[in-house]
Order: sequence, then C-alpha cells, then structure tokens
Amino acid sequence: MTQPIRTVTVLGATGSVGQSTLDLIERNRGAYEVLALTAHRDVAGLAASAVRVGARQAVIADSSLYGALSDALAGTGIEAIAGEEAVVDAAAAGADWTMAAIVGTAGLRPVMAALRQGKTVALANKESLVSAGDVMIAAARESGARLLPVDSEHNAVFQCFDRERPGAVRRIILTASGGPFRRASIDEMRRVTPAQAVAHPVWAMGAKISVDSATLMNKGLELIEAFHLFPLDAEQFDVVVHPQSVIHSLVEYVDGSFLAQMGSPDMRIPIAHALAWPSRMETPCERLDLVKISHLDFEAPDLERFPALALAKQVLREGGAKSAILNASNEVAVASFLDSRLAFLDIATIAYETLQEYAPPAPTSIDEVLEIDRQARRIARDLVGKCPI
Ligand code: NDP
Repeated sequence: MTQPIRTVTVLGATGSVGQSTLDLIERNRGAYEVLALTAHRDVAGLAASAVRVGARQAVIADSSLYGALSDALAGTGIEAIAGEEAVVDAAAAGADWTMAAIVGTAGLRPVMAALRQGKTVALANKESLVSAGDVMIAAARESGARLLPVDSEHNAVFQCFDRERPGAVRRIILTASGGPFRRASIDEMRRVTPAQAVAHPVWAMGAKISVDSATLMNKGLELIEAFHLFPLDAEQFDVVVHPQSVIHSLVEYVDGSFLAQMGSPDMRIPIAHALAWPSRMETPCERLDLVKISHLDFEAPDLERFPALALAKQVLREGGAKSAILNASNEVAVASFLDSRLAFLDIATIAYETLQEYAPPAPTSIDEVLEIDRQARRIARDLVGKCPI
C-alpha cells in the first residue's frame, strides 16, 4: 500500500541538521511535500535549498534580506517571505511534520507555534526545551502534538525506552564522545582557539553545538533535555564518555538489562528515524562494521576539567528558572568565544556567575521564559565585558 504524501516544514533549513533533513527528503521525493524552509541570513543557501526540494515558501528571519531573497527566487514560483514573525507563521502553517532545527533560543517561539498545531514536531533545537521544557511539554500535551527527539542521544533513548512501563527503568545513560579536548590538560585548554573548538573528532555539526560539545555543556543541556522528554527523576540520568560514539545512549532496566541504540555517527540516522516514524526508511549512511570497530571504550567524565557538565547537573537538580539562565548565559558566552572575546575556560565561568547573580521564580509562560532569557543575556554580556582575555 502506498503511503499518503506528508507535508513537511524545515525550520533552520540552511544549518547542519536542516541540510541533512533535506538530503533525506530529496532521496524520497515522492513521499514528502515541502511547505516551507526557513533560515536566518543565509539567502543563497535558503534559495538553493528551496529550489532543490521544490518548497512552496522560503522564509528569511532577517527582514532586511527580503529583496535579496525575492531576487534569488525570481521565476521559480517559490514565495519569498521575510521577518521573525514570518518564521513563526511558517511553523504554525500546520505541516504534518516539522523539523525544529533553528539553533538557540531563537527557535523557541517557532517550536511553540509548531507544537500548538497538534501535529508531529521533530526536535533538534535542544535549547528551546532546556529553557522552556515545562511550558513546551504542557503545550504538546494540550494540542496532542507528538514530539520526536532528533538529538542522537535522545533519539536512541526514545528507541529503547518502554513508555508503557517507565517504572521498570532504573536509569538513562547518555553517552558523550568527550569532544576534542578529552585528553587536553587545563593549561592546553586555556589556549584553545575557536577553530580548534569547532573541529569535533567524530560529528560534523554547526559552530555553537560544536563548542558546547568541547566544553561538555552540550551533554549538560542534553541531561536537562532528557529530563523533559522521559518521565524519570533528575537523579536517574547519567553520562558516560564513549569516544567512538557508536552507542548513542542506553536505558537500564530494574532487572539489570541495558538496551542501547547503535549506529554510525551520522545525524541522518536519527533524523530518518523521526522522518519515517513509526515506519523506517533507508539511508545512505555508512553501516556499522562491528568487527572493524572491534572494541568500545567507556570512561567517567572529568567534572574538574569540564565544569560546565557539573554546573548543568546542579541546574537539573535545582530546576525552576535556572535552566533558562544556564542556556541564555551559555549562548552569550559561546558567541563571545567564537568572536575571540572570551577564553574557552571562561564559558562555564560566565554561566556560573550569571546563575549566582540572577534568581527569578520559575517561569509559567513563554513570555516569562523570554524575559528571563533577556535578563540573563544582559547579565552574561556585562560579565563577558569584565572578563579579560
Ligand atoms: P547550524 O548553526 O548549522 O544551523 C542553524 C540554523 O538555524 C540555520 O538554518 C540558521 O540560519 C538558523 N538560525 C540561526 N539563528 C536564527 C535566528 N535568530 N532566527 C531564525 N533562524 C536562525 O546549527 P545545527 O544544525 O548544528 O544545530 C541546530 C540545532 O540542532 C541546535 O539546537 C543544535 O543544538 C541541535 N543539534 C544539532 C546537531 C548537529 O549534528 N548539528 C545534533 C543534535 C542537535 P542561517 O544559516 O541563515 O544562519
């Protein structure tokens, strides 16, 4: 029996996850109809992608780029639209399946708009869930939207977790590759440049998440993300360093069984899982050769060299507004590091100090989350200004 065509929208289509998603859509042309693609400023990338997959609309968030996008799409029949609100509108247009792959809190309002439609949202944008987890999960429950995790670790847990019997789960263990500085000394880490930090040994990703992987803040954000996605207590989430990134995460059951999902470190595998769910689709990804891999290594994370992970664990235990503050201050610190205005080791310090300075009550709405985000960014920016490089 042929499957009905599904309409899809890709938020953050020009990024690493967005492009991997479009690659899979292109390989299965007959199965999907692309309603809208969105980007921030990459007009050329957006226009080329929209033509490639035959999108109905291309939306650029920076409204000053409307003319450039219209010119780039002239004669294609694809509608050019611009502005932050237009991105939210595209997310709210009711696609059967929406990929949320905008980086950072900028993705929050579009993700909320997509969740309110009651359809399927494939979530890569972890920062939105870290900042506004309770509000997002409540919105998904209210509309009946299905949230499919795309982050490889959460997708792995999703594939192994017995949703009918959460009480039978003892622990969720997220694996971490350890990033490019797994073996670096503190002295070496003091001198890390942006180019070194974005050169991840295993995964090819956007700049922000690559820096987060290098500080292990990424794993910390993922712990908080996992807490919102799977119904366990904060102390039931753990991290183990696994440099080969073959096991993407594990679920431990009370009887001593561990279920793990394995695969090549290629984001198209978890994206394909979410795109075809509840079916499966073929991917061009390299298949695992277990004999060639021959062994798998595991080690405990070093919380002294990677204080960002320790900080995120504390934030997970304490809850409330802290995760929104952690996320916002980390985004400011990472952007400053990428601009060579902050030293690598000070990224976690900025997040720590912002959390010390600012302690608002837990947010209950997206507006409150966004206000906390704004204040935390302001404080973090001031702190960066006082931090000599
Ligand atoms: P990229 O930096 O490669 O891409 C980000 C995308 O978001 C681009 O399309 C960018 O547009 C768009 N964007 C950036 N800022 C804004 C804004 N203010 N308004 C609207 N759109 C914006 O990121 P990744 O693809 O690496 O990551 C995307 C998300 O997925 C992140 O949350 C990341 O943590 C998560 N993730 C990524 C993984 C990966 O392998 N890359 C793995 C797991 C999760 P433009 O190109 O025009 O700037």
